[in-house]
Amino acid sequence: MKFQYLGTAAAEGIPALFCDCEICREAARRGGKELRMRSGALVNENLLIDLSPDLFAARLQFNLDLSKVRNAIITHAHSDHFDREMMGFFTPTCAHIAKTGDLFHLWGSAYTASAWKEYTSAIQMKEPVLEQYVVFHELKPFETVEIEGVRVTALKARHSCPESLIYVLEQGDARLFYGNDTGPLADETWEWLAQNKEKPFTTVSLDSTMGHPENHYYGHMSLKENIETKERMLAESMADANTRFICHHFSHNALCLHKETVDFMKPHGFDVAYDGLSFNA
Ligand SMILES: [Zn+2]
Ligand SMILES: [Zn+2]
Ligand SMILES: [Zn+2]
Repeated sequence: MKFQYLGTAAAEGIPALFCDCEICREAARRGGKELRMRSGALVNENLLIDLSPDLFAARLQFNLDLSKVRNAIITHAHSDHFDREMMGFFTPTCAHIAKTGDLFHLWGSAYTASAWKEYTSAIQMKEPVLEQYVVFHELKPFETVEIEGVRVTALKARHSCPESLIYVLEQGDARLFYGNDTGPLADETWEWLAQNKEKPFTTVSLDSTMGHPENHYYGHMSLKENIETKERMLAESMADANTRFICHHFSHNALCLHKETVDFMKPHGFDVAYDGLSFNA
């Protein structure tokens, strides 16, 4: 299963749009991996995780062909993960691939579905254009569906947006845990992981928004909490020595520049995500 991070920042990006803090200034000065767009990922060239407002920028930067994408799994309804207006570009005037009967499928929680419905009912068109091309499928926590040949299981996140989901993606030998936005994992999620560990994860991507080891917030993880999550996954045989652990979803408020985060997390066996990082999961 191919996997690519299209963006690796929290909502404000790095450097943040109107910010003048030391981290943003230093990130802008260094460039490269220090520059982070809002979070999202592409699986196998045809399955998106989240609709980031920076998807168009990612398409340009990584020369992506998104014309085959007909499915997006949405973690939650925060605007940096679910830019609802983006779906307007999957209509025949904006995408010449879209024809009547050709549907784009969104997948997410009932709350995310209600945010989608609220948006489509608020836009006043002569006829309901979006509904002809985009269909929303509600996922319940711990439900598994198959999308584009990938087994997708929704797990419960702990986050400030109602009914936020994180995901397990499985295909062939690959078993990936995509864990943001979430604080230290919910008990029910640990229970599901304990009951479904026939195969250790090949890749685990964790929320690192709180950065600095001592920071704590219920709806995001710190680097210390990333390390604790890894230790518990290893202790409970959900992961093994071959599992690749990756820190992901960063904020300028956490004082984490890429290079320093790599130096800090390397001894703990973590890679640090950057925009465009692509690998076989
Ligand atoms: Zn986020
Ligand atoms: Zn800043
Ligand atoms: Zn969020």
